[in-house]
Amino acid sequence: MEVCYQLPVLPLDRPVPQHVLSRRGAISFSSSSALFGCPNPRQLSQRRGAISYDSSDQTALYIRMLANSEIEVSVSARNVRRLLSFQRYLRSSRFFRGITVPNSSNILDDDYNGQAKCMLEKVGNWNFDIFLFDRLTNGNSLVSLTFHLFNLHGLIEHFQLDTMKLRRFLVMVQEDYHSQNPYHNAVHAADVTQAMHCYLKEPKLSKSLTPWDVLLSLIAAATHDLDHPGVNQPFLIKTNHYLATLYKNTSVLENHHWRSAVGLLRESGLFAHMSLENRQLMESQIGDLILATDISQQNEYLSMFRSHLDRGDLCLENANHRHFILQMALKCADICNPCRTWELSKQWSEKVTEEFFHQGDIEKKYHLGVSPLCDRQTETIANIQIGFMTYLVEPLFGEWARFSNTRLSQTMLGHLGLNKASWKGVQREQSGSGDDVDATFEEMDSDILPQEPRLS
Ligand SMILES: [Zn+2]
Repeated sequence: MEVCYQLPVLPLDRPVPQHVLSRRGAISFSSSSALFGCPNPRQLSQRRGAISYDSSDQTALYIRMLANSEIEVSVSARNVRRLLSFQRYLRSSRFFRGITVPNSSNILDDDYNGQAKCMLEKVGNWNFDIFLFDRLTNGNSLVSLTFHLFNLHGLIEHFQLDTMKLRRFLVMVQEDYHSQNPYHNAVHAADVTQAMHCYLKEPKLSKSLTPWDVLLSLIAAATHDLDHPGVNQPFLIKTNHYLATLYKNTSVLENHHWRSAVGLLRESGLFAHMSLENRQLMESQIGDLILATDISQQNEYLSMFRSHLDRGDLCLENANHRHFILQMALKCADICNPCRTWELSKQWSEKVTEEFFHQGDIEKKYHLGVSPLCDRQTETIANIQIGFMTYLVEPLFGEWARFSNTRLSQTMLGHLGLNKASWKGVQREQSGSGDDVDATFEEMDSDILPQEPRLS
């Protein structure tokens, strides 16, 4: 059926009545069953991009609230068909209003300036500065880095990929990240992809991985937070967001990231030359990787990992075992910020806290109940980081170092220890004690964790 955008005429100065919230989303996913079975690319492109508008849509409300500036949607945009995700819709609305959007032309290898090229030569270094790389590539770090890695790993040749389709796919991926999110944006995705590359190079993995494994790993890393709205799952649930309903309040965001990635893969036709069977397998395995980044499932993955390590029965000749390790690798890549150098790690900490606090501000404004770690009046970066490191990062990286006891693992654990000590120093200088937040991490139900201590 025809799915249309309507103007987000929203009462931003008062809470949305419950009866309005409960009506939301009825149109948006009325054809959702077509997503995975529909061979018609035109229909597929209409389906892709689940963050939608309609006049009673809470999504529109919170996205407007999240935006730093008011989004004015012209009358001419009223009937724009729902071809695109929110990000691409926003661009098209700017187009209608005659506002120039910075172009993404600076993405070709030949256009890299010397410094960006120079950086790519060291893309496997753990101290790779993704923020600098993003500036040098004019905000195209995800496209530039992922394309380079595809080349470096020989994937273009091996899978006979059309480089124009590959670039188109990567540009769409990058554009579907929300650049206004302080944390969950394309730079985070590029950072996770770079970390994943570092893990794929580790001796235990590199000698066993097939090109197929590497392909899936890089695509999953690049798309693992696609179209992230900048708020966490509990927020979507308590605002009755249609994605929460669609995915039955379970791994809501991760499912959405995955389905969004599948939409772009199909739309780009990047693997159209492969058999249907292989494409379906690819979509399914990418899903397994992305869904593993749901931090509420961390204990299950970690205890499985620990059991394998205790028994010493991991056999990387076995494809299932390899894919399990790739899930663990992606989980590590996703929450590796505290394992980077202090200069990089501190920037990530500030960004993720800004996103949490922004959500908290919205929750306060609309009397939604402030989520744990999201209250800027009571929380501090230091407290949040120490809790995050203690209860989520250290256990995961401790096991990873058991699996892959390499110089990289020791480097990561070294930074983790130093960064934690630095935050404890900051904490001591501040008047409040960190005990309360530590307790929050320890006691909180995993599915009420904010999104990036569920850092996916
Ligand atoms: Zn993430």
